[in-house]
Order: sequence, then structure tokens, then C-alpha cells
Amino acid sequence: MKIGILALQGNYQKHCQILSQLNFEPILLRYPYQLEQVSGLIIPGGESTTISKLIHTAGFRQAIQSFAQQYPLLGTCAGLIMLSNLRQDDVGINPLGLINVNVTRNGYGRQLDSFINNVTVTLNDKQQTIAATFIRAPIINDIGPDVEVLASYNNKAVAVRQGLHIGLTFHPELNDITLFHQLAFEEKIN
Ligand code: GLN
Repeated sequence: MKIGILALQGNYQKHCQILSQLNFEPILLRYPYQLEQVSGLIIPGGESTTISKLIHTAGFRQAIQSFAQQYPLLGTCAGLIMLSNLRQDDVGINPLGLINVNVTRNGYGRQLDSFINNVTVTLNDKQQTIAATFIRAPIINDIGPDVEVLASYNNKAVAVRQGLHIGLTFHPELNDITLFHQLAFEEKIN
């Protein structure tokens, strides 16, 4: 199965490795028509203001929104910011509004640019602890009723799922965590 990685800006190579490890074929997407070739999409971390502009100029916005009606999306960090509703006060970004959460960008402040912490993920009443790398990560503030929280850190959701789509404030690909890619793109994993 082919899974696309939006390769306009940001760190997508590690996602390729995780997908290959899971026997998916990673496809780097630079043009909207390429969505026709894939059965899922990753929006990677990077700089959400830049990704947002490039989504607009490359004509990806509507293409991703209609793709998302049928196929799963996984957004990490800036990718989650793009999937969210964001907050009205962040003018540089036009989020896709596919996961019903509001986020604050760089929520942990510049002085804590990056940290790794253990996070406990709850799936089907089973818990597992993973290492999570947060890099200038957003904080999820408000969560809509249709959003499931898969993991929290400091009483804030850091992994959320709505329907087919998963959003993470951290970077599982940097710690070789395959769980969320499996959850998003493999059918019926328990
Ligand atoms: N701080 C970045 C932003 O706002 C996100 C960082 C990341 O993706 N690691 O877009």
C-alpha cells in the first residue's frame, strides 16, 4: 500500500523509514494529483506557517480536504497544527480543520525548544509508555466532543484521533515509534 508524505517543507525522511519498516511504500508528494496514487497521507513536522503557504500555492488545500473524507491522515507537530482548527489569532496559518482541536503554536515556549519525555498511550483500554520528542511543539487547548485523546502529557492531550485522522504534538518518527503509523494506516490494529 502506498502512503503519501507531504514533502513541501519539513522533516519527512524519517517518516519514509517508518513506513518502509511497516511494509508501506512511501511516496513524497509535491503535487496535488499525486494524492490519487496513495491511500493515506502524512503531514510532517516543520514550520506550519511555511507549510500552510505552500499548501495554498501548490493547490493542495481542497485536494487534501476531499482526500480526507475517504482516507486517513497523520499529522505530527506542524502537521497537527495544519489538521487542527488553530486559534483565530494566528494569522499566518490557514489550517485544514480536520481535527476538532484548538492549538497554540510553540506552546512550551522558546526556552524549552526541545525535550524528550515518556508518554503513556491508551488504546482499547491497554496502556503503553513511549518516548516522545517535542520540538517547539504546539499545545492542544480545546478538544471537540468527537475527538478521542490517545495520550496526554502534563494534563494536556498530545495525541488525538478524530475519525480516520490522528494528530500528534510530538515526533514519533524520531524515536522509531511505529504505533501511530500503524494505527493510522493499518486496518483494525488492536
Ligand atoms: N513550531 C513549529 C510551528 O509552529 C512546529 C515545530 C515542529 O513541527 N517540530 O510550526
